[in-house]
Amino acid sequence: STGLLLEEVTLRYGDGEEVTSALDDVSLHVGQGEVIAVVGPSGAGKSSLLAVAGGLTVPDSGRVLVGGIDLAGRERDRARVRRERIGYVFQSNNLIPALTAADQVRLPLTFGRVPNPRDPRELLAEVGMGHKADRRPHQLSGGERQRVGIARALVTRPSVLLVDEPTAALDRRRSNEVLELLVGETRAHGMATVVVTHDHDVLRHCDRVFEMVDGRLTAGERTAV
Ligand code: ADP
Ligand code: ADP
Repeated sequence: STGLLLEEVTLRYGDGEEVTSALDDVSLHVGQGEVIAVVGPSGAGKSSLLAVAGGLTVPDSGRVLVGGIDLAGRERDRARVRRERIGYVFQSNNLIPALTAADQVRLPLTFGRVPNPRDPRELLAEVGMGHKADRRPHQLSGGERQRVGIARALVTRPSVLLVDEPTAALDRRRSNEVLELLVGETRAHGMATVVVTHDHDVLRHCDRVFEMVDGRLTAGERTAV
């Protein structure tokens, strides 16, 4: 299978009478070139979903496949899939204060061999940051930092892109620009992209919307135009 596939995934925290089902029988397929949104209240399991999809957390049961590769294998193999196949975009985008934009984007390539990386400077140009490749995060606006964070997530040519609250710090116009960028990159590179969001403006950019409540994922209203 291509894209991202979750089959009957269950993740529990705690034991005895204090068990929380963070993910309760979650099944989901995100195809290549597709962007889905996941909405839901705090504590619903959205972070858990990203952690499992990204191979950071191993579920108690069920299967997770990234580009056909089962993440159930050994930690070493999972680490490789994380490094080569998964891109993360964080809310605060975790840029390192001392590094220039170009060095931030290059960073994921320094943790181990990546088969077919993109050129960091070309990628920065593609996300509209070519002219600020030598700036450090404090010299960039919120929207610009988010673009650098996106470029950093794309440099390994991931097949799955996991995005956590990409617009939390942005005004509406910047939010739309960032979403357009994410959707364009997803289509152009055939990624399977999952966006966790509280922002209803984000939904119309996405192909499908899912709602998460108490660890259960259900198809939400399709708001894409
Ligand atoms: P969301 O991202 O939607 O806010 P989370 O995935 O963070 O939800 O959490 C889902 C549920 O799992 C919540 O009830 C949360 O309290 C619980 N949970 C998350 N991480 C842990 C943990 N490390 N230990 C115990 N419970 C956890
Ligand atoms: P955006 O267009 O993303 O909303 P702003 O309106 O916040 O950006 O900022 C406008 C311009 O000012 C941007 O091009 C950005 O590079 C620059 N800028 C913002 N903050 C700083 C800073 N602390 N140091 C240098 N330049 C900055």
